[in-house]
Amino acid sequence: MSEMIERIDALLAIGWENTPDQLLRDCRAEIQRLSKQDAPIPCVWKQDDEGVYETGCDHRFVFTYGNCAENGAKFCQYCGGSIAEEFEIED
Ligand SMILES: [Zn+2]
Repeated sequence: MSEMIERIDALLAIGWENTPDQLLRDCRAEIQRLSKQDAPIPCVWKQDDEGVYETGCDHRFVFTYGNCAENGAKFCQYCGGSIAEEFEIED
């Protein structure tokens, strides 16, 4: 990835008009490769009555205030998965 940033810096230094074709082809290939990478696997978080979350990867976590949305939490800090908050259905 850092190699790609160096290449893009090189592209910017010489100016778009004079960009060698190979540089553009390499950038295109890298963007294509990165866009094919899988999205993070979801980690299901369930909150109990006391506000403690049980994570899908078998950890427990509690926010001092608020829930995932209120804290802007999007990824599980244990497994790196995207947080999928599961809410209890009340009957
Ligand atoms: Zn997790």
